[in-house]
Amino acid sequence: MSASDDANDTNDTNDTNGADDAGGIDLEAYADVWVFVEVHDGDVMAVSWELLEEGKKLTAKTGEDLVALVIGEDLDAVVREALERGADRVLVADDPVFEPYRADPYGAQFRAMVEERKPSIVLIGGTHTGRDFAGRVAVPTHAGLTADVTEIDVDDDGLLQARRPAFGGDILATILCEEHRPQMATVRPGVFEPGEPDLDGDFATVDEAITAVDVVVDESETISEVLERNVGDTTDITEADRIVAVGAGIEGDLEPAIDLAEALGAELVASRAAVDEGWVDGSRQVGQTGKTVRPELYVALGISGAIQHVEGMNKSGTVIAINTDPNAPIFEHADYGIVGDFADVCPRLAKSLRERDL
Ligand code: FAD
Repeated sequence: MSASDDANDTNDTNDTNGADDAGGIDLEAYADVWVFVEVHDGDVMAVSWELLEEGKKLTAKTGEDLVALVIGEDLDAVVREALERGADRVLVADDPVFEPYRADPYGAQFRAMVEERKPSIVLIGGTHTGRDFAGRVAVPTHAGLTADVTEIDVDDDGLLQARRPAFGGDILATILCEEHRPQMATVRPGVFEPGEPDLDGDFATVDEAITAVDVVVDESETISEVLERNVGDTTDITEADRIVAVGAGIEGDLEPAIDLAEALGAELVASRAAVDEGWVDGSRQVGQTGKTVRPELYVALGISGAIQHVEGMNKSGTVIAINTDPNAPIFEHADYGIVGDFADVCPRLAKSLRERDL
């Protein structure tokens, strides 16, 4: 593996896990682009469909198959949707042992499939789940794993170019895995757009496209048991159409922001400064170390527009910034700017929206 990134930003597993002892790897034995489709209680994480769409661009260049990998329980509808969304083939491991998610059965199953079927590229959503088990696959299989990727491409030789911010976001590092396979990446949710499913597609050969793989995990052998689940804030801000974002400038006064968010039917998110202050939950942080969002409308309240924040919202549709400082950088990224105190502006905007019933 060659990496232009700092070592902490990637899991370059090749130097430390005895890969050399494993002997020369026959790169030609590895083929196809796999996309992990993450399912919890029948719900598919949006990043899975984003990656499937992006995977099509890779296989259009490499000429390989795009393979959806689905692990969970009662997966028929998900398998069908993967085909409708453009997977050439689906590998499915359907068993109660996979629901709810636990790292050890997922990791063991995924690893067995990788070792048996030898994919060239494996894309996994950079969700809690994806980040949790990807290392369990990468280390024993001697794969190269790049974490938190924001751009992907392949070169003429089919080598994955995994790009991600490095050194505090100052540079975009391109990570290559030249000597080992598979080339794995966890990809940040929200940076790619999902495609539309082809609901009228001809899936006459659907059975041939679906492979039910052997489930290699047995409940009696798993080392963890789920005794209780405490589900906190489950809102996925990456799927919100409208967003009101708060920054340090609100100084803990959330009420006007919540009022505006309610009037707009928007989700409330925050800059890192506001999250660090404890005003908003960390799952709602936007930016380089938070989430990437692409709503139709993004209203920024008391946010200066630091590059690390802008990185997470600059794919939004219409951006409105409200800031007391006319020179705040956020205005460079805004379609509409209001120079003023958010505590004055928000109630007036909210009132006007309610009167117009927008
Ligand atoms: P500030 O920069 O303090 O801006 C506050 C703004 O509020 C100012 O522009 C001020 O004029 C305005 N204001 C003050 N009073 C009012 C008022 N009454 N009404 C209206 N406006 C008012 N940041 C992120 O957001 N997300 C990230 O993921 C992230 N990741 C980072 C990763 C790294 C490695 C590093 C080094 C930094 C990261 N940061 C991130 C932090 C980032 O650099 C900024 O520090 C942060 O975004 C600033 O937050 P802010 O705009 O809310 O606060």
